[in-house]
Amino acid sequence: MPTSSLSPVFFVNLTPYLLILKTKGTKKTKVNIVTLGCSKNLVDSEVLLTQLKGNGIDVTHESKKDDANIVVINTCGFIDNAKQESVDTILRYVDAKQEGLVEKVYVTGCLSQRYSQDLEKEIPAVDAWFGTRDLSRLLKQLNANYKHELVGERILTNPSHFAYLKISEGCDRPCSFCAIPLMRGKHVSRPMEELVLEAKNLAKNGTKELLLIAQDSTYYGLDIYKKRNLADLLKRLSDVDGIDWIRLHYAFPTGFPLDALDVMAERSNICKYIDIPLQHGSTEMLKIMRRGTTREKTEELLQTIRTKVPGIAIRTTLIAGHPGETEERFDEMMQFVERSRFDRMGVFPYSHEENTHSYLMADDVPTEVKQERVDALMQLQQGISLELNQAKVGKTFKVLIDRKEGGSFIGRTEFDSPEVDNEVILDGTKNYLRVGDFVQAKITSATEFDLVGEV
Ligand code: SF4
Repeated sequence: MPTSSLSPVFFVNLTPYLLILKTKGTKKTKVNIVTLGCSKNLVDSEVLLTQLKGNGIDVTHESKKDDANIVVINTCGFIDNAKQESVDTILRYVDAKQEGLVEKVYVTGCLSQRYSQDLEKEIPAVDAWFGTRDLSRLLKQLNANYKHELVGERILTNPSHFAYLKISEGCDRPCSFCAIPLMRGKHVSRPMEELVLEAKNLAKNGTKELLLIAQDSTYYGLDIYKKRNLADLLKRLSDVDGIDWIRLHYAFPTGFPLDALDVMAERSNICKYIDIPLQHGSTEMLKIMRRGTTREKTEELLQTIRTKVPGIAIRTTLIAGHPGETEERFDEMMQFVERSRFDRMGVFPYSHEENTHSYLMADDVPTEVKQERVDALMQLQQGISLELNQAKVGKTFKVLIDRKEGGSFIGRTEFDSPEVDNEVILDGTKNYLRVGDFVQAKITSATEFDLVGEV
């Protein structure tokens, strides 16, 4: 496990957690899994859930009832806010243990992978710590055995009509600001047969939308097939009966497998959508961030993506305030965003993460300036998003219904991913719709981040 010290700010007022008194009476073994962080963590929790169920162990995910005597917290260690949320969640369950509501607290996931040595000292009340590749050891701790026959099976924790499919683990990229390789290790692609089997099982259980996730999905296959094999994987998954939408997330700009775009263009059940975190729009900054590309090459790639897949929606993620980001270089990014007119965009303030390459640089952009730059980028994007959404008014789109909310049904077009992108609001009083249904909806009005439609 990598050594690094988790700053003491995360551990205010710990005394009450150091001495845990006897628990009140023992409960029947039931495990409650709590997931923090990204969709990749969620998939790991679902795999653990499936394995425990497969061992006949009573298990639940994020149960609000305090009927579980064992809690497994799957943490996130990405950036400060996420780390704080993970520590707070651990302390909350250690608190519950002190009150005798739970008997055992186990911690796994990225924060544990990255800081277990500090955390063991700081929070001794936790019964055991596990890394991101410790599933077998964790199962043993829970009196269960890893069942190979369950590979490709997965119990979902979100509504079953969409599911994340993790196509690889880890990352070989040297991005200067990123601590993920420290927590997730080197890139390992999952065999295509295993992924196709999982997709078939998910489809059998009602999944209609597959979201392909990884640290770097465009690297798929380079390790086990000695070539970028995303295009073949997309074809194989597109051939799975019952899958209506396949959505590509976490693409990387450098060495992008253009043949994947051809498959995307020719297959109707592959969403005209791509999530490609670009991180910055200034060539100097891309160099400092060790992204292996330039603004010019990035704009060329965006052009190629839009030419090869007409009408595609592009989502990106940017970082504002990385060391070395002068006013000029930030303005270059603003102009880049203005020109690129992304359909969806998220922006993070730079987080100074120890043991990353950027940590060796002075964190020279003040916190308030970082936030001002995040706000400026999001405000620019808000205007672009409004224009792009208003251009959809009067048009009809295929919409997947995600949930009912009050008198409305909330859904998404193929240009929107769950939880991060725009939604379509449909009047629920006029139509009988079901969650997981596809409907044709005509857009009647639009705001920056949502569309209103009628079936
Ligand atoms: S590709 Fe993504 S996960 Fe990998 S190092 Fe870069 S930012 Fe981190």
